[in-house]
Amino acid sequence: MADLYGGVEAGGTKFNCIIASGPQDIRAEARIPTTTPAETLTQVIRWFGASGLPIRALGIASFGPLDLRRDSPTYGYITTTPKPGWRNTALVKPLQDALGVPVAFDTDVNGAALGEGVWGAARGLHTFLYLTIGTGIGGGAVVNGQLLHGLTHPEMGHIRLPHDLQADPYPGACPFHGDCFEGLASGPTLWARWQQDPATLPPDHPAWRLEVRYIALALVNYICVLSPQRIILGGGVMDSHFLFPRIRAEVQQLLNGYIAHEALGAGIDRYIVPPELGARAGVLGAVALAMQAAQAS
Ligand code: ZN
Repeated sequence: MADLYGGVEAGGTKFNCIIASGPQDIRAEARIPTTTPAETLTQVIRWFGASGLPIRALGIASFGPLDLRRDSPTYGYITTTPKPGWRNTALVKPLQDALGVPVAFDTDVNGAALGEGVWGAARGLHTFLYLTIGTGIGGGAVVNGQLLHGLTHPEMGHIRLPHDLQADPYPGACPFHGDCFEGLASGPTLWARWQQDPATLPPDHPAWRLEVRYIALALVNYICVLSPQRIILGGGVMDSHFLFPRIRAEVQQLLNGYIAHEALGAGIDRYIVPPELGARAGVLGAVALAMQAAQAS
């Protein structure tokens, strides 16, 4: 019998829970609505208990910002989120106390990056990036085989990009920065700018020219800073698959031949790719975090 692990992908609208040993061996799954912390966490704990399946460790991949500093009194907390009721909420301790197993904790995007590295589009690579473009924009990076952490965790959605106010007079929607990357290119921003569900915007709509521009500008920055071997683009906006070839072409144009590597030339189709774990990238990422925690314990 394979060892089983628990995964929780903590999102702003739902908590996806899973018990699995990997993507080919999923034993139980649940979606629990994100209401109040007390109600949601109680339901998560009950679900794991009621499953009757013993887990070796639990991984939590959460929306943030998070406190990931082990020596901090608020380690394992969601910190300054604008989500009502969830600011300064402990996630790790209540689950660890209730389930009695090692608990790993990281950002949703770091979890997804790790999961794609173990089972998905970044198998065999040591340095790569997972970026989600949906309700928000966030990135997780694996660098030399390790999830990238630092002062806190990267906030790749909040980088500043050139904003041509003539081409795009929209001021941006980030409550902290206005026209940062997330403020210009998230799903809700597309809604707000075009007053229409982005999923219904046709491929030739001018919305996509701007969207491709912003995503390509951001990717060029990440490429120049992290030198990733591959970039995985997930999230609801990237379900519009026609964006991929356009983003690849624009990245090449912006780099202008400066970085001499086949991956950014003829190999670009394999360089900027969708996630292979699909909609389960996040929750399987949490399982990958749990596996790391079990190995460390
Ligand atoms: Zn911002």
